[in-house]
Amino acid sequence: MTTYFADVIVPLPLPKLFTYRIPLGMEHEARPLMRVVVPFGRKKLYAGLIAKVHSTPPAAYQAKYIEQVLDETPIINEVNFKLWKWISEYYMCPMGSVMNVALPSGFKISSETKITRHPELDEIKSSINDKEYLILEALESQTHLSLDEISDVLQQKTILPTVNAMINKKLLITGEDMKLRFKPKMVPYVRLTKAYRSEQKLNEILNALSVAPKQMEALMHYLKISGWHTQNKVEVRKQILNEVLQKSKSAIKALVDKQVFEIYEREEGRLNPFVIDTELKLKLTEQQNTAIGKIIDFWSEHKPVLLHGVTSSGKTEVYIELIKACIKEGKQALFLVPEIALTTQLVNRLKAHFGEQMGVYHSRFNDNERVETWNAIIGVNKYSKFKLIVGARSSLFLPFDNLGLIIVDEEQENSFKQFDPEPRYHARDLAIVAASISKANIVMGTATPSYESYDNALKEKYGLVEMKQRFGDREMPKIEISDLKKAHAHKAMHGSFSPELYQEIKQALERKEQIILFRNRRGFAPRAQCTTCGWTTDCKNCDISLTFHKFRKEMVCHYCGFHVPFPKSCGQCGSATVNLQGQGTEKIEEEISELFPHARVARMDLETTRQKHSYQKLISDFEDRQIDILVGTQMLSKGLDFDNVSLVGIISADSILHYPDFRAYERAYSLMEQVAGRAGRKNKKGRVIIQSFDSDNPILKKVQQHDYTGVFQEQLKHREQFYYPPYSRLIQITLKHKDPQFLRIAAQHFGKYLKPTFKENMLGPEAPTIARIRNWYIEHLLLKIPANQTNKSIKRLIREAIDHFKSQKEFNGVRIILDVDPQ
Ligand SMILES: [Zn+2]
Ligand SMILES: [Zn+2]
Repeated sequence: MTTYFADVIVPLPLPKLFTYRIPLGMEHEARPLMRVVVPFGRKKLYAGLIAKVHSTPPAAYQAKYIEQVLDETPIINEVNFKLWKWISEYYMCPMGSVMNVALPSGFKISSETKITRHPELDEIKSSINDKEYLILEALESQTHLSLDEISDVLQQKTILPTVNAMINKKLLITGEDMKLRFKPKMVPYVRLTKAYRSEQKLNEILNALSVAPKQMEALMHYLKISGWHTQNKVEVRKQILNEVLQKSKSAIKALVDKQVFEIYEREEGRLNPFVIDTELKLKLTEQQNTAIGKIIDFWSEHKPVLLHGVTSSGKTEVYIELIKACIKEGKQALFLVPEIALTTQLVNRLKAHFGEQMGVYHSRFNDNERVETWNAIIGVNKYSKFKLIVGARSSLFLPFDNLGLIIVDEEQENSFKQFDPEPRYHARDLAIVAASISKANIVMGTATPSYESYDNALKEKYGLVEMKQRFGDREMPKIEISDLKKAHAHKAMHGSFSPELYQEIKQALERKEQIILFRNRRGFAPRAQCTTCGWTTDCKNCDISLTFHKFRKEMVCHYCGFHVPFPKSCGQCGSATVNLQGQGTEKIEEEISELFPHARVARMDLETTRQKHSYQKLISDFEDRQIDILVGTQMLSKGLDFDNVSLVGIISADSILHYPDFRAYERAYSLMEQVAGRAGRKNKKGRVIIQSFDSDNPILKKVQQHDYTGVFQEQLKHREQFYYPPYSRLIQITLKHKDPQFLRIAAQHFGKYLKPTFKENMLGPEAPTIARIRNWYIEHLLLKIPANQTNKSIKRLIREAIDHFKSQKEFNGVRIILDVDPQ
């Protein structure tokens, strides 16, 4: 009789897979891509994933037994697994780390996991078995149990199958969810009943209501707020309608009694699914139709497509049309967005078209929701199969079985890159690989393509489709540069605002138009400095100055969270001459409120959007024109579309331009163009004012002319000269240690191993601008490698260098971090 073995991926950063023995009788259950419980290390159990089943015993060690099989069917498919392997090779990271990032943590129980009662479990149902009862009973007296404790409760060793089954039955949740545990708050909403959703019925009731003016008013307001006659319909909270109606609230009830309105409840803060079930038809412009035709042509040549469309050119409608075609063919579509939390508007629009066929997936969702989505993709249990997933980068790991289309929106966005933990993958690049493995079509859209993508398009590796006109009658915003040097010399500044920006704000307010002010620093002031001796308040753990947050009355480190009260006197010379310098969003907000006391001002940055629904509230308040001026950081630049914004002010272009990175100008142009794109209303030109001390900077001139290709061509010359991407690919090796002198020696030693091969294509080792974070000192090595090779031999060499380095005992404490294609 043959003895079978399984190579298992254990969810730990181990260089190799481990081989386990499949117990007799388990051969038919233990199949590839299913989870199994395996022992690892001393007394620890993990849920690992079978990569391969074979009959060769491991040569170097005695194989331990698989304890249990957790799944009845594979939880990922062959396409997923190919992608995992590609990631592991390309990003030089262990399969265990890929597994850790790819699977929702509900799939990753181990003996360290803490288990809690499911928050929605009210009473213990009779259908549970004895073991389940014992565990739930134990959780009456304790809030959570470790697996070891559960093992004691059940007086048996093998408990993971029981726990796993209980998680599936929604009796338990894993500990990672504890911070997200909350009873969802239900909020009442108003909508038209099905009977009144046709134009004809609506007109009838409007006529009939002419005798009941208050009810008429209520209905009219509902139609307006819901955007009933537009393509951007939204759900209407009862409270909002109440507020508008003020004294005639009872009209809503009257309409409910007449069965024109119905009240329904929805969980507060979940991305509001749109429920009105009208067949939405798109009216596409000629430009959009042409773009769709071209995209499909390129797809027939099996090319990825770069959709380069100016801001507000109507890319979303193009995507919607392509998704509809994909679903019609019976396939699934994936819509990747950089940060799902910042795309409420987009998600609502897509929901209007795809309703229940669409699912949303991202890491801010709690585990239950993520596992549910996972199951809904495969189509198990009660879940209907999703046809469209809108998600952040982690949705690339979902087990689609019939993926036909991937859309990457805002492909240039940095947040597609995963920084920590490894694998440090770039979702756009991964999407291209995923599309190729699953033979799906792919389109990447943006107003400002990344230079890598644009270069690929010019070299015809990608199809290039352009949309140069703004949607409807909108014109490109008019951009002016405001010279801060001059304004300061003439003492003409109003706080942080140049006379030009001040005047424009004033006039826009008078015209009852809305304003966006952009500043890429949060907090009140980026630093405090003694004007007598030059001392600054720096973080004690990082090499960076502390930012003053007025609201918290503290100086805070944005890297490690260290905070101290604002110093009353200088820490060096003792003088009481410590002054705040520079301005962050908090200060801009304060100044603008003082300058325009009647304006309603709000701020959107990390501080004001920390709470679960605060971002959505800010957006909807701004949409409802409850806010006149919105001050904010990068968050403002992401895919927002407001109808009434006529002015955008960029408070400091200098802090965007002067950044020590070869991508600084690429990013600066992109950011300013995106922020500027928020300006402009139907039939009216928007205005943008960019403030700068360096007003002759050529990049600013190009932004003014919306000259993307001009900046691209110029920057590409530099890239070629200094051999940077897209001419090369980069690998960054980071070494960290708590002793700076020792780290220096270690980094030099490491560099020596690689220098003979890379020569001038190795930069460093050198300390970055912020050379210490959380008390870890940092040294960087940057390797430039040819762009168009698979580079396997180079990666092997780097691996050798790391092994060689680690084999020397003295360097044991040095952390090494690999980043392929650092951003
Ligand atoms: Zn001083
Ligand atoms: Zn710090």
